[in-house]
Order: sequence, then structure tokens, then C-alpha cells
Amino acid sequence: MTTPLDDSVQYLKHVGPSRAEDFARLDIHTVRDLIWTFPRDLSDRSNLFRIVDLPEDRPATVVATALMVSERPAGRRRGRAGMSITTAEFADDSGGILEVVWFNQPWLKDKLPNRRVLIHGKVKHERGRWQMDHPLYEILPDDAPLHTLNFGRIVPIYPSTGSLNQGVWRRAMAHALDTRLEFLEDPLDPALVEEKGFMELREAIRAMHFPENPEQAKEARRRLVWDECFFLQLAVLAARRHALLDLPGRQFTIGPELDNRIRRLFPFKLTPAQDKAVRDIVRDMKSPLPMQRLLQGDVGSGKTAVAAYALLAAVANKAQACIMAPTSLLARQHHETFGRFLSNSANARVRIGVLVGGMPAAERRAVLERLANGTLDIVAATHSAIGDNVVFHDLGLVVIDEQHKFGVRQRFELSRKGVRPDLLVMTATPIPRSLALSVYGDLDLSVIDTLPPGRKPVKTLWVSQERPAEAWELMRRELSRGRQGFIVCPLVEESEDSDLNSAEQVFRELQAGELHGLRLELLHGRMKRPDQQAVMDRFRDGAVDAIVSTIVIEVGVDVPNATVMLVEHAERFGLAQLHQLRGRVGRGVDQGYFVMLSDAKGGEAGERMSALMASSDGFAIAEADLRIRGPGDFTGTRQHGLSGLRVADLVRDIDSMADARQTAAAVLEADAELVHREHLPLRRELVRLYGKQWDRVAGS
Ligand code: ADP
Ligand code: MG
Repeated sequence: MTTPLDDSVQYLKHVGPSRAEDFARLDIHTVRDLIWTFPRDLSDRSNLFRIVDLPEDRPATVVATALMVSERPAGRRRGRAGMSITTAEFADDSGGILEVVWFNQPWLKDKLPNRRVLIHGKVKHERGRWQMDHPLYEILPDDAPLHTLNFGRIVPIYPSTGSLNQGVWRRAMAHALDTRLEFLEDPLDPALVEEKGFMELREAIRAMHFPENPEQAKEARRRLVWDECFFLQLAVLAARRHALLDLPGRQFTIGPELDNRIRRLFPFKLTPAQDKAVRDIVRDMKSPLPMQRLLQGDVGSGKTAVAAYALLAAVANKAQACIMAPTSLLARQHHETFGRFLSNSANARVRIGVLVGGMPAAERRAVLERLANGTLDIVAATHSAIGDNVVFHDLGLVVIDEQHKFGVRQRFELSRKGVRPDLLVMTATPIPRSLALSVYGDLDLSVIDTLPPGRKPVKTLWVSQERPAEAWELMRRELSRGRQGFIVCPLVEESEDSDLNSAEQVFRELQAGELHGLRLELLHGRMKRPDQQAVMDRFRDGAVDAIVSTIVIEVGVDVPNATVMLVEHAERFGLAQLHQLRGRVGRGVDQGYFVMLSDAKGGEAGERMSALMASSDGFAIAEADLRIRGPGDFTGTRQHGLSGLRVADLVRDIDSMADARQTAAAVLEADAELVHREHLPLRRELVRLYGKQWDRVAGS
């Protein structure tokens, strides 16, 4: 059943084929995709001020014309070249002059003069002048009148890229809402909507984009968060019900002899915590019910060996097994790790392969063929494993590494490639257990709560970004001893939004300065995959001393010789992210160091870093995160990204999750198959969100 919501965005006014391509790059194809893409921020421009009326010390918006614009170098701040300061004077018809300063945005010098610009920031009034430091800005079209979508109201801010500037976004969105929103069905029973005191769905969607006031925006969010939690819970609870009640899965045989054979492959003895997890898994695999287990363990706790155990046990039973990881770096790393394990036995005949994006076509074809004809036993893959052309001869076990990088939908999609295969999902996300359980409500839980022996806790340092000498000295010392390091930067390229050091810039500066003469390489998400891999390979082989990178290394990289990590502008990262990053060092027997460069003083950023200084325990960190972020503001950084949630934030919206879970359970209790007339819209929505796979996994 298609509706005008399923039309391509191309047919919307203000879009057309070329902008549609830019939308496609953001994974926005249909009108429905578009209206479900919510602003990353809202900017309250209900009050536009004239310069002379600008209030002091609170954010305000002004529209003015740039007169003088000048640029100068900012001196050799932090011993680095290339920093710049742009100063511009703005005037409006009030007769006031507003002086604005931007850092490291040299291109403004050419872009601003004589343009009408919207400026939003905090103003200072000194010596008869109005001043703003580093405000948000939007260069306005010269001819157009002030568009009512952009001013005099709360204005949505979208992720602008390419041809999609804010104006295009807003006009396309407004047009989509005006012409197609009426076709959106509210899947919730009106009685339920009323009982919960929710906005109607269409009203909520409109208010997410163009709220009339902050309260309306909050209410809209409350409705959509709940919906998202509700459908997630319906999907997983229904899948679980069917998995356990209806059809049997596969019953593996795992005896002491096999157990021994597998353990002998590891170059270490499993820790008691790993042992316990293995016992849970073995019990599940031997049972006729399909395993549905979540393995939670802090970074570096040794989940990979546990996964390897399960994979090898499945293969010994003549089944195929697949481990899916969020990046090709990680998939290849798993492949290598398993290869090393297997090389410890002369007569292991397990055939392993890799399936990732960007592989040479012939290689890829060969892997697909061997998966289909059963001559490949284990494949380490990225999400390319869920592609339609991937067919397994007999997939008996699915392992999903770093589940928090995937959605529940991908989990279903991979599982359906076997006949009710056993499922093990692994996560290092340090979220409190209660939270994990309510999100992964369909899974049994195993926790690895101790690190392998001999690990020294990583030493954490907090160093001023302005006086980083101590940090670089430590880095040089470690590298000169043959250890390796990471330098992590928040952004790849200079961006209009901030003056943060980009990885490329930092890389150039370090090469010429602090780390001159050492073997540095750059690694970031916009590099081609094979190039990323090559850098990682050289790093692992010891041919590179340090990697300057963006957040791509966040998950899973395992190089025991890497002992030091330095994070630029650490205040820009979330607590969970920083904790993950820290887990990349101190994986061997040597002391590890984690250095946060930041000038944040107080505020949430300061609290985050204090929490990291105080503890290295993932769970304690998660509790701190919960405390610091609390019920929070309107736009949160969704650092957990768990289960593909778009609007809901696991930490902040846990109450909604719990509530939605209860409702979902009650609905399924009354109508397990969702076939009652009033539940049909729910079923349609589930299939839309979680795909036909859900239907299949749910077994109905
Ligand atoms: P994660 O849980 O973050 O995926 P890994 O599985 O990558 O952790 O393990 C981290 C490091 O600890 C690896 O270098 C691995 O070889 C090592 N390791 C895992 N288990 C043990 C153990 N029982 N004893 C000693 N070292 C171990
Ligand atoms: Mg791992």
C-alpha cells in the first residue's frame, strides 16, 4: 500500500533530481524519510533584535549586513601555525555596530562582505560597542524577503550538506508537511493516545519541525520517543515469544573433547568471567531453543575469545557461523585473530573468510559462492553480510559485535539467513545492567566483569589544550621506546561550525612540529576503506609510530603495543565515547596512558572528564553519565545510538522505555500475533520499521 508519503523527495517543490541525490546521500529517499528526519537543533528566533536593542549575556538573534571584514593570524598559539582570527563589523538600520569574531574560518573573509547575515549568539556590550565571539551564522540570500520559515519563530536546524542549505531544508520540509502529512496513519489506538495524554502523531511530527513554542516541541518529542521505544519493544518481545514458544532451533553437541580442542587454540587461559560466559553460551547452544544472548563486557575484557569459542563450537557441528562487526577494520581484525587462534593447532580445518564493502569484485564473488555452497565455515563481515545476495548454505550461529552500532533490524536481517540460528550479541556500551535489560528485553544476559590478568589500569591525564607540552613529551617518550600511540581529533576537515583542530591540520602540524621525525599516518572515515585498512595494517605491523585519526578507531581496535592515546578537544566527546577510546590503550602488559587535552572548566564537559579521571570501571562511568546528563535538554547527543533509536536517548528516556515496554507486553499478552483489527496498524508499522524479516523472525 503506497501513499504520497512514499513518493521520492525529488518531486517535492524546492528539491528536484540533483538535490534529491544529496538527500539520498543522507539516506533520505522518500517524503516519509524526509519528514522523519528531525532537526538536530532548534534555534529560538521568535525575537529578532535590532543591534541597539540586543540584550546582554543571553543568546539573541540579529540580521545585519557585513561591512568591514578582516583576517589575521592568531599567532603561534600552542606552537602551531595556521590559526586565524576573522573580525567583521555588522550594521543594521538601528545605527548600531556589532563586532563579531570568528576563529579559524578564513573563508569568511571572502564570503561575508556586503552580505546580509543572520547572527545568533551572546552579546557583550563594551565601550559603546556590541560584540559577539564565534556566533552561529547563516548567510542570507540578498534578494529574498525575510522568509517566515527562517525568522520570527523557533527555527529548525538540519544537517546541511552539499546543495542542502538550511533554506532548502526548511522549504522542502514545510512543503512536504503541508502536502503529504495528512496521509500519515497514526498506528496507535486513539484510546491509548488519549490515556497517555499524547499529541496526535501528525501534530507531533509537525511540531518536531516547526514548533510554535518550546513546550510544544517537548510534547512532540515525548510522543515520538515513546512510539520509538514501543515499537522496539514490540519487535523484540514478539520475536522472543516466537523464538521461545513456537519452533525449535538447532541443538548443538558440545562435549568435553570439543571444549578442550577449542580452549587449546587460545594463547591464554580464559578468565573466570570469560569461563562463566562460555558456560552460559554452551548451555544455550545445546538447548533446542535458539540462543538469544547478550554478552556485555567492558572494552578489553576479552569478548572476542568468547565469540571465537561459540563460532568454533558451531562449526564443529557442521554449521556455518557469521560474526558481524560495525567496520571493515574490525571485521578484518576478527578474521586475523581467528586465523591466529586456528594456527595454534596443526589439524584445525576451519575455513574462514572476510566479507566487507569495497572488496575486489572477484574476491567478493568467491566468498559469496563459498558461503552458498558451504565450503566456508566462518565469515567475519560488516553489515554487507545482510545484503540480499548473501546466501548461506547453513547458517547456524550469528554473532553481532558492538551491537550498539547496529539496529535491531540488522540483527533480524542477518538471523533470517539461517533457520532460527543461535544468536549472540556483544556490546561494550557501559550502560547499567537494568538499562541494558530493558532495551535488550528479548535477550538473556551474560556479563564479563573482570579484565584479563596483568592489566594495569590506564593512567588518565587531563592537560590544558593551551599548554600541552607535558602531553607531547609523554607521547614522544612512549614512541621513542618503541611503543605506539593514537592522536584523536573531533573533526576531519575545517568546518563552518567550529574552530576545532581537524585531523588533517593536526597531522600536518605534528609532522612539522611536536612529533617531527616520527612515523605518523592519518586515518579518517572519509578515506577509502582499503586505504584505512592499509594504515591499520602498517600500524599493527609496527611500521607506524602513531596514528592521527578521527573517531573511526573508537570501536574494537586491538593493538597491544599501543600504549598512549591523546584526545584533542576532549570536551567534544561523550563520556561513553571517551571511555571506549581509552579502552584502546593499555591492552598489553605495558602501562597505558590516556591524555585528554581540553580547556573545559566546569559544566557537563568538565564533569565528564572528572568522571573519567575518577574511574576506569565502565559501569561506574555509565552511572556517572546518567547522573550528568539527567533528564536533560531538548537535543541530546545520542552517543549510545543503541538499537537504531533515532529520537529516543537511552539514558535520558529510560522511563519512556520502561513504560512502553509494559504496554508492549500487555498488547502481546492480549494478541500475540497482532491480528486483532485494532492491532493491524501496529503490525503494519512493525513490518515497515523492522522489515519482513521481523515477520519471519517472529515466525508468524
Ligand atoms: P573486547 O572485549 O574489547 O572485544 P578483546 O576480545 O579484543 O576485548 O580482548 C582484549 C585483549 O585481551 C586482546 O589482546 C586479547 O588477546 C586479550 N585477552 C583476552 N582474553 C584474555 C585472557 N583470558 N588472558 C589474557 N589476555 C586475554
Ligand atoms: Mg571487541
